[in-house]
Amino acid sequence: MAEKDLICSFCGLSKVQTNLLVAGQDAHICDSCIEQAYGIIIEESKREESIPKKEELKVAKPKEIKLFLDDYVIGQEQTKKILSVAVYNHYKRLFQKKSENDIEIEKSNVLIAGETGTGKTLIAKTIAKMLDVPLAIVDATVLTEAGYVGEDVETILTRLLQASDYDQDKAQRGIVFIDEIDKIARKSDNPSITRDVSGEGVQQALLKLLEGTIVNVPPKGGRKHPDQKFIELDTQNILFIAGGAFDGIERIISKRLNMQVVGYKNTSEIKSNDSKNLLSYISPKDLKDFGLIPEILGRLPVLTHMNSLDKKALRSILTDPKNAIIKQYEKLFEMDEIKISFNDEGLDYIVEKALEYELGARGLRSICEIVLNDAMFELPGSKRKNLNIDKSYISNKLSNSKLNVLKAAS
Ligand code: ADP
Repeated sequence: MAEKDLICSFCGLSKVQTNLLVAGQDAHICDSCIEQAYGIIIEESKREESIPKKEELKVAKPKEIKLFLDDYVIGQEQTKKILSVAVYNHYKRLFQKKSENDIEIEKSNVLIAGETGTGKTLIAKTIAKMLDVPLAIVDATVLTEAGYVGEDVETILTRLLQASDYDQDKAQRGIVFIDEIDKIARKSDNPSITRDVSGEGVQQALLKLLEGTIVNVPPKGGRKHPDQKFIELDTQNILFIAGGAFDGIERIISKRLNMQVVGYKNTSEIKSNDSKNLLSYISPKDLKDFGLIPEILGRLPVLTHMNSLDKKALRSILTDPKNAIIKQYEKLFEMDEIKISFNDEGLDYIVEKALEYELGARGLRSICEIVLNDAMFELPGSKRKNLNIDKSYISNKLSNSKLNVLKAAS
């Protein structure tokens, strides 16, 4: 064939119309087709990189999860252990190779009962941090049944999508923490003719989500409307952790325990050991009596509780966790080349005040904020590079403050 008759086998341009024509065995390719092909190769390799490979979802063993939690969450040993196992089992499900007669591992969604400020949210956050999966924290009190004023349960997943930067795959492996689940308890034992909008209806609406279903999620939240574009999310592999204080449930537990003559522990033994910590005996039956419907309890099969925080725990929360409150303030001052130090008596005093004003762990931060506010205002930019904080310094700052207001607000 004459050289002028040669053409690109891909686009059909003749040699004179190209800058370069590369010859292969039985074909030719021009410079612009080479460029385009190269672009396609780059695009493809990018796409493959973005698909998470199964091995990337490597899950730590329960003991490693527990060790990680220990760095951030003080006490709550039993719950940390139970959750480590639940999380491990949950993510093992993700790896399960499906074959026809396989045993299907069910979801291990979790319910944590415990007073507010005992670390329920913190545990969920820490697990998400460890697994590097997105976390959505939602408040059950804002949810209502579809069609009523309030948020549809699907908006829970909108939050998860947002936490995942709208990455569908990531969201489908995330964790949802539903706070205040106790606030959607059925208000009375008699299902009435008028519908219980905020309670049982929401529980019903949550069932499918907890169990695993495909949901059309409005990406920007809000009410669903016909013209809206949806993102499909499968909730099958989303781990749900529900938390609630269940105020007054101790009464239900103690009533049950007193009636229960034969059990694995007899009542007098329980009384002498744990009368203060009745929550450690919580059972699904108590939650049902509190107003959660049996179907919801069935879909939150891992039940655990948080202990209330005593003096020792609060003292430890101040200084021991990896991102302990005191460490955070030290860091803040350090950024201005100022060294602050608390003595032990001072730290004990902060704990005493938190207990006295019934502020719990959240109160520790509020107290520190009051104590350090003047210093945080005055010291940056001044010549002073050291600040020793003792009991009298703290007591002085607190006496000038409205600590009582904090109690009222808590
Ligand atoms: P809850 O969800 O139970 O109401 P949070 O997890 O939001 O409580 O706790 C509030 C704050 O108190 C946390 O940010 C953390 O600083 C502190 N805190 C509570 N419990 C613990 C704990 N067991 N260990 C360490 N810090 C805790």
